[in-house]
Amino acid sequence: MRKILDYHAPAAPIDALRISQSSTKARFLAGGSYLSREKTLECTLIDLKNCGLAHISEANGNLRIGAMSTITDLLLHPASSGPGKAFLQALSSTGHAIVRNQITIGGSIAGMLPWFNLAAPLMVLDASLLVLESSGETTISFRSFVANKPREYLKNRLILALNIPLVSDRELCFSRLSLTEVDFAPMFAAASISREGETVKAAYVAVSGCLPGPVMISGASELIGKKLSRSEAETVGQAALHELQGKIISANPNFPPAYLEEVLPVVVADCLYGGAN
Ligand SMILES: Cc1cc2nc3c(=O)[nH]c(=O)nc-3n(C[C@H](O)[C@H](O)[C@H](O)COP(=O)(O)OP(=O)(O)OC[C@H]3O[C@@H](n4cnc5c(N)ncnc54)[C@H](O)[C@@H]3O)c2cc1C
Repeated sequence: MRKILDYHAPAAPIDALRISQSSTKARFLAGGSYLSREKTLECTLIDLKNCGLAHISEANGNLRIGAMSTITDLLLHPASSGPGKAFLQALSSTGHAIVRNQITIGGSIAGMLPWFNLAAPLMVLDASLLVLESSGETTISFRSFVANKPREYLKNRLILALNIPLVSDRELCFSRLSLTEVDFAPMFAAASISREGETVKAAYVAVSGCLPGPVMISGASELIGKKLSRSEAETVGQAALHELQGKIISANPNFPPAYLEEVLPVVVADCLYGGAN
């Protein structure tokens, strides 16, 4: 059953936050793609459409994305290529055109659903969130946000914007596992690599989709000081399997272990080697 107890469309984020704090049943309405599919919903709806949060800009070496910007807004904005071609690839493989017009960046981050295409890229890109809380605006790194259990963290807070530092010598790589281009993807990998000549200076890898939230793979640091070859990429793929296998099986007891052993290392290795070469 769905019941809207009350509807507000405040003109400023601070008013949206205040209204949300006055009701235990308050929900922010962004694109509505998730809210409209909740089978039972009884809430005070706070529509963010008039809060001035749909903006995208590039300034001081950062890509700033307002929480109400949609995936389509991002795909059409020239600044979106800043984090790398793989960022556009992650955006364009999100759902289909109709939902891309609807889904907002803030709603996706707040929901942090397993199929959130940008979850792994945002981990390796050192992204951060600008958040509004009672005491004012604050910034939290995307990695800390994930570690803090997003839904808990967002009680009494509103996401204002996403910030992605644009680093010129960093390559972003992205891969997703699905049967077809538009199919549901149960596994995503993203990597960011910096090199000096052919030698890897810094390497970060994250995996998402198969776990409740995205996770960093510590074995990626093995690449530092080496040349990125297919076999080095496969070693990181195996490290990812060792680091995540137990966690994935306990989060999804139905995930066939043999399937996991076959696909996870390949998705990670393809991301690293296919994307960076
Ligand atoms: C058919 C379909 C296919 C999809 N496929 C994909 C896909 O392949 N990849 C992908 O990444 N996503 C996909 N999605 C989108 C995803 O499932 C969520 O529906 C979406 O991310 C929610 O975004 P929204 O803007 O519609 O948020 P809403 O539905 O409006 O809100 C979602 C939640 O976030 C909260 N919220 C919204 N904005 C804020 C804010 N600024 N601060 C704090 N809390 C906030 C809301 O209160 C609510 O609890 C798909 C959706 C559909 C319907």
